[in-house]
Amino acid sequence: MMCGITGTPGTGKTTVADELAHRGHRVVHFTDIVQPYVIGKDPKRDTQIINTDRMVDEFIPFDGFIEGHFAHLLPCDRMVVLRLRPDELAARLAARGYSSDKIEENRDAEALDVCLIETVEQFEPSDVFELDTTAKSLAECADTIERFYRGEIPASFGLIDWSAYAGVST
Ligand code: ADP
Ligand code: MN
Repeated sequence: MMCGITGTPGTGKTTVADELAHRGHRVVHFTDIVQPYVIGKDPKRDTQIINTDRMVDEFIPFDGFIEGHFAHLLPCDRMVVLRLRPDELAARLAARGYSSDKIEENRDAEALDVCLIETVEQFEPSDVFELDTTAKSLAECADTIERFYRGEIPASFGLIDWSAYAGVST
């Protein structure tokens, strides 16, 4: 069973995946496998351009967790979408030194459910779990993900409405 962990940058994907690895799960970080598929850089958006078609073609599924912003493109059996209230997310990205443009872009993406929508477009509703990490500890988040992975808690998403956070000036 391969479970993807996706979410807007800053929602805590890498941190919770490291915790799952610490608990004995096999974990692959998208950033560790993406390099051969980088075909350029988009200077305007300060992001890499990735040949996702070739990456998806060459990807070999495994038992465990694949963590990263593009996990929803890979052949996962289940998907966890991490969420974080947009004002908290913006504060985290500011602490990371992101430019104000990048902060607003990601905050708005989080406010408008972009990662969730992309995931729900690719997967069955019964395979998607949306986890609101706001004010939850790392252990609590990892516990919930493990329970979903083991099939102990059902799929669930669509309960969050952070649209009021979109487009506000920072
Ligand atoms: P991502 O991989 O989604 O971009 P990170 O895992 O790098 O996000 O986390 C971004 C920041 O948020 C890090 O500084 C991390 O320590 C912090 N963080 C992650 N998860 C939590 C949490 N559950 N509670 C508080 N802070 C967290
Ligand atoms: Mn990360």
